[in-house]
Formats: sequence, C-alpha cells, structure tokens
Amino acid sequence: MESLKFCPLFSGSNGNSIFVSYGNTRILIDCGCSFKKIKETLHTIGEDICKLDAVFLTHSHTDHTSALPMILKNLDVKVCGSKGTLIELYPKICDYTDKIFQIGQNQSVGVLDLQVESFPVPHDACQTLGYNISNANRSISILTDVGFLAENLYSDVKGKDLVFLESNHDLNALENCSYPLHLKQRIRGDGGHLSNENAGKFATHLVNGGTKKIILGHLSGEANTTELAYETVKDVLKTNSITANRDVMLSVSERGALGETVLL
Ligand SMILES: [Zn+2]
Ligand SMILES: [Zn+2]
Repeated sequence: MESLKFCPLFSGSNGNSIFVSYGNTRILIDCGCSFKKIKETLHTIGEDICKLDAVFLTHSHTDHTSALPMILKNLDVKVCGSKGTLIELYPKICDYTDKIFQIGQNQSVGVLDLQVESFPVPHDACQTLGYNISNANRSISILTDVGFLAENLYSDVKGKDLVFLESNHDLNALENCSYPLHLKQRIRGDGGHLSNENAGKFATHLVNGGTKKIILGHLSGEANTTELAYETVKDVLKTNSITANRDVMLSVSERGALGETVLL
C-alpha cells in the first residue's frame, strides 16, 4: 500500500516549507524560501515542483510565503490561505486570483487523495492557521508559529500519527541572546513563538492522545539549538513518565536544512 509521505524541506525563522504527498496528490504547506531553493530541494527528494497540486499557507509572514509570487507565476497550483492571510498578501497575489482560494477556520478541503483541515493558531499575523492532513488511514498535524497553547489546540491537534511541532526557543537563551528587547518580547509574547518548555508540555498531551512521532521545528537562530530543543522536550516528557524513542519517536528538523522524509 502506498504511504503518506512527509518531508520538511526547510524549517526555522529563516524559511519554512513542508512537502506532503499521497497517491496522485502533492502539496506544500508554506513556501518561505526562494522558488529555486524549493525546486532544487524537491528534486533532491525525487519530486518535481511542476507536479504540485496546492500550496496551503499558515500565515502571511515572509518566512512562510517568500516564494509565493514565483509559484503563482510559474506553476498551475491552487494557493489556499485564510481571509486575513490573503488580504495581507494581496499586493503579491492580486494578478492571480483564479489560483487563490480562501479557507476558513476549522474548514476541511479535499485535494484529490488528501484531506486538509485548518484550525486557528494564536500568532501576530492575521488569522494564522495550522493544518491537519490526512488520507483514509493516516494523519499529520503541522503546528508552528504558536504564541501560546490556546484551548482549541488541545482538541484540534489530537490523535494524529505525526505532529510537526514548533519548538522555537529556550527561555534562558532568548533572555541572553543579542536580539533587541522588542524582538525578545514579541517572541515570548502571546503573538510570538512556542518555547521548548511549552513544546514539551504540548508533546506530553500529544503522546497521551496516541501520537507516535513528533518532529520539532521552527527553531530560532540565536535562542535555540537542535540539542537544546531535543533535550528540553525529552526532559519534560520524562517528568510525565514518557520515554522518548520508546513511547514516541522524537526528532528535530535542523534549522535551514532538509529534514527527514517520513513514510506513514
Ligand atoms: Zn515563522
Ligand atoms: Zn510567523
């Protein structure tokens, strides 16, 4: 039987794009790198950018949308985002309205062999979304750019086989890094990003709900490291009697690098 394929092409505050495919369906969640880089990286994992069916946008920030004008210009794809995202991106997308589709909160959209469902995420871009992607047997959640663990996330992201979860910063490293004060306040604020500690807390919820694989991502450049994210989340899981790589497969998508391909 064919597998659901998942691969973070890029992740981190410098660029985000995730590839998911099943059967005849190939989609991207976000496109925050150059068109050339996305094309080359897809080629590396044996995929052709021209065969993409759709691009789903979580929000308008540049690290999630920078390739959008080139994608709209060069590819025959659907681009889906919230009303707020599409309004914020309007100057970049207004010549391609035939390819643009609005998706509401908690709306489910079929794209050939895949089902994509949105849910609201608290972040400082208008109507930020996370996505659940599934076929008949398997399900994936993508949850990044999370200001805080809002109540709805506990029900919207539950019981998925694989979750790509933001683990953006270590609170001490953020406090002591060279970022200006206003940026530090934004990152740790309710419209900012999820700390390693809170990623651990949410990972505990996920494992208790049956999730078997968690990939940590969207790491900060100055206020985190791959090891720090992994160890912090592993330690929080341990305090909740969950052993990483026994009860759940835990890994980190390295900042700026091609992530692992997972077949479900
Ligand atoms: Zn981001
Ligand atoms: Zn953002």
